[in-house]
Amino acid sequence: MSEATITRIEVYKLTLPKEPFRISLGTMAQLENILVRVESSDGLYGLGEGSPFPFITGETQAIAYEAALALARLLVGKNPYDIEARVREMDRFLEHNSTAKSALDIALYDLLAKRAGLPLYALLGGEKHSFYSDETLSLDEPATMARKARALVERGHRMVKAKLGTGYAEDVARVRAIREAIGPDILLRLDANQGWDPITAEAVLRDVAPFGVEFCEQPVACWNDAAMRRLREVSPIPVMADESLFDHHDALRLASLGACHYMNIKLSKAGGLYHALQIVAVAEAAGILCMVGCMSETRLGLSAAAHLVSARQQIVFADLDGAAGLDDDPVVGGMTYDAGRIELPDGPGHGADIKPEVLQRLQGAVVYAPVGDEA
Ligand code: MG
Repeated sequence: MSEATITRIEVYKLTLPKEPFRISLGTMAQLENILVRVESSDGLYGLGEGSPFPFITGETQAIAYEAALALARLLVGKNPYDIEARVREMDRFLEHNSTAKSALDIALYDLLAKRAGLPLYALLGGEKHSFYSDETLSLDEPATMARKARALVERGHRMVKAKLGTGYAEDVARVRAIREAIGPDILLRLDANQGWDPITAEAVLRDVAPFGVEFCEQPVACWNDAAMRRLREVSPIPVMADESLFDHHDALRLASLGACHYMNIKLSKAGGLYHALQIVAVAEAAGILCMVGCMSETRLGLSAAAHLVSARQQIVFADLDGAAGLDDDPVVGGMTYDAGRIELPDGPGHGADIKPEVLQRLQGAVVYAPVGDEA
């Protein structure tokens, strides 16, 4: 496979109308992602997507787009199948910018799986299984969240995740209202997105525990490992690291400190599949179960994440509902999502492609391999 080189990389801004999504850190008013298409000299192409959340990864769509273009200039002319070398080059060349790196990493894995003629989960050494994702309730008044939760259950959902993090009284009222609306049998997960100080976190987790909660993501600030460590000891509800966990270095730190029960892996934070697999390895060594979550990817980015879920038994939770609020699906193929039930396709790669009519109207740029380059 050493003769193949990356001949061109297209980078696009993928902007679509979407139901506004509010979390304690801010609101995403529409879908503002990036899409990359990596072409190889053996006639194949791979696709990747990144969904930048400015208040989590520090990347806006414009930042991720420019970062992806700069990284594309680094990658063209080189072997797309030596993924470790390409990831190390990206990490050395540009600090942070995990969303842009993730889009390119996903495209390289898609390309490699197509070259191997295997679905991505099989390339990663896994076996196909269908699984369930929760669907997330945007932060809102308790009654509104309860009504939306009830509607999800009526549509067949088994798991609901509630965004919290604005204060003790409102948050306890939200959980009470949602549990009353969905009945006792539906799994309920919580996510404070760093919204609580350590004292409030302890009080809320103690007082919502009787309502039956599976776990709570990132109760306190992403930098507050000491508070996470204390919550792991005193909280009656398991705590999951999300914003405090980007890559495998964070995973080792959190595991060593005993600062979480669970870890939430997202490709946009990890910088792609390569580093996500490293997180899983650290978590497995520490006996920590993992979730794979998402930002606001379309089914293209979500399909890559779903293959990862299928590839590792250490991943037992999924939160891959990012495309749920989209009216028009821009993706053809890839995973299916039916009331939280996710099924993967059997074809090579992650199986998702962008509809040609959508691709045509996107704003983008092309980076070509240098002419006469022998890399
Ligand atoms: Mg979260």
